[in-house]
Amino acid sequence: MKREVIYKGKNIEYILERKRVKNINLRVKPDLKVYVSANKRVSVKYIDSFVLKKADFILNAIDTFKNNTFSSEPKYSNEEFIEYINSEFLRVYNLFKKYEIEKPVLKLRKMKSRWGSCNFVKGIITLNTNLIYCTKEQISYVIVHEFSHLLVHNHSKDFYNVVEIYVPDYKRIRKEMNKINLR
Ligand SMILES: [Zn+2]
Repeated sequence: MKREVIYKGKNIEYILERKRVKNINLRVKPDLKVYVSANKRVSVKYIDSFVLKKADFILNAIDTFKNNTFSSEPKYSNEEFIEYINSEFLRVYNLFKKYEIEKPVLKLRKMKSRWGSCNFVKGIITLNTNLIYCTKEQISYVIVHEFSHLLVHNHSKDFYNVVEIYVPDYKRIRKEMNKINLR
């Protein structure tokens, strides 16, 4: 459900989702949208006032994300990019072979909301062509992340335990990547 509050003459739109959370959670995502999840016991009136109280935080977060758009220049030529993706894909596959996984199919596609995805049923890993704006370290993290989904399908602690084996510094990299605006 979309809702809106007005703070100092500015409209703040947010997406309200009813979830089994304790009270209210609020997040501003790099797509510049405000997501609020609230328990269904909490009234919309209360949620509106909660969002208003967080208005300064929200507007700041949106500004920060706006300033973190892609650097204008891709970091590689198309050939270099494809070559790096393919070689990293193979390197990571060789690391994951011991888990007796089938070699996934690699696809590249421009995506708006994520860096990669893993269809573990069909054995397809899709990587975002916008990774051409990312560092090699970031690209490798995304590839390891998607391969790890072949073993653990959610983002649980178990999942990140696998990621951490191959990218010990994944928390820092993930944090950096979350700041990049993917539009
Ligand atoms: Zn994931």
